[in-house]
Amino acid sequence: MLNVNKIREDFPILNRKVNGKPLVYFDNAATSQTPQQVIDVIVDYYSNFNANIHRGVHTLSQEATDLYEQARIKIQKHFNAKYSHEIIMTSGTTHSINLVANGFSALLKKGDEILVSALEHHSNIVPWQMLCERTGAQLRVIPMNQQGELILSDYDALLSEHTKLVFVNHISNALGTINPVKTIIDKAHQVGAAVLIDGAQACPHLIPDVQDLDVDFYVTSAHKICGPTGVGMLYGKEAWLNKLPPYQGGGEMIAEVTFEKTTYADLPHKFEAGTPNICGGIAFGAALDYMNAIGFENIAAYEKELLDYGTQQLLEIEGLKIYGVSENKTSVISFNIEGIHPYDIGTILDKMGIAVRTGHHCAQPIMDFYKIPGTVRASFAFYNTKSEIDALVNGVKKAKMMLS
Ligand SMILES: *Cc1c(COP(=O)(O)O)cnc(C)c1O
Repeated sequence: MLNVNKIREDFPILNRKVNGKPLVYFDNAATSQTPQQVIDVIVDYYSNFNANIHRGVHTLSQEATDLYEQARIKIQKHFNAKYSHEIIMTSGTTHSINLVANGFSALLKKGDEILVSALEHHSNIVPWQMLCERTGAQLRVIPMNQQGELILSDYDALLSEHTKLVFVNHISNALGTINPVKTIIDKAHQVGAAVLIDGAQACPHLIPDVQDLDVDFYVTSAHKICGPTGVGMLYGKEAWLNKLPPYQGGGEMIAEVTFEKTTYADLPHKFEAGTPNICGGIAFGAALDYMNAIGFENIAAYEKELLDYGTQQLLEIEGLKIYGVSENKTSVISFNIEGIHPYDIGTILDKMGIAVRTGHHCAQPIMDFYKIPGTVRASFAFYNTKSEIDALVNGVKKAKMMLS
């Protein structure tokens, strides 16, 4: 069991007021809040360890390098990767996806096909469109149903010997649907296609086991799991990472440089050109420690309680419709009230100190599917409470009265 009152003491930001009201933070799917334990690691790094890594012989540089490489190992263990060099430190999910998409430029040709799901975030659509423009490969879309779930029989029909890559998010950021990624991966492998799973939205709620999933690439950002912004990871199977060409040239990624020829460094450094977000990487590790200490089983059970409570309370409001009603979903509630623009509801909620997301949530195709301009999205984390949900429900009722 999770002690939410004690947990809330870890998050200084939860004490602040917004527009004179206590902050109710329900935009966790956009970014999570940062506990003091992680803030302390960031302050400690700049207070005591700041130096460039992998280069200096001096003590400070070596200590910083050790901390950074220990973080990589924490990440490896967390995701159960076979080797630590299969963990590439990146600036986040978007960077990780672009790294893979760029690498595949060299491996695809006209006539090849890439499958993406209808539930994708823009950062998981645009890089593939750019890849298709570069290579002549074709992008095809796995459709979704009204519940917000992928239609697996259509996926089966799309798979063929032309399929080279499949890209699906583990959990949809707009609707919260948990996709059956293991099945998706198995089916793709049967036709010899590689699979990249966007785990940005899954990692706050569960622990993906990359070996059990047998996934080729798995990507995530630290800032959705209590870590800082601007850092994340790409997991890739060793064989795939050896096959892909480097993404950026620069320091750190080379073994030897002459003007005639440069040879690349071994993994993971081949993909880590330039000075990385050293402090961010170390804090990423600390964020995983923090969440593991609470326990993902406890987090999932508690968030399910919040989801069920929030769904039930919100549905009592007349004219309110929830988008994404899969049995398999996480603590995200995307909704609209008939006849009212989501932006107007969001603005009134903000006046009451309640932070929700409004708009298309970087997932315009999903909004087009439902023929709506966007939704109000409340996404809950393990530090939220039922009384905060009550505040949201009251706020939505007030907004509805003012706007209709
Ligand atoms: C947040 C998010 C991204 C983008 O993450 P960045 O940290 O902005 O790169 C991609 N996909 C999903 C599903 C997300 O939730």
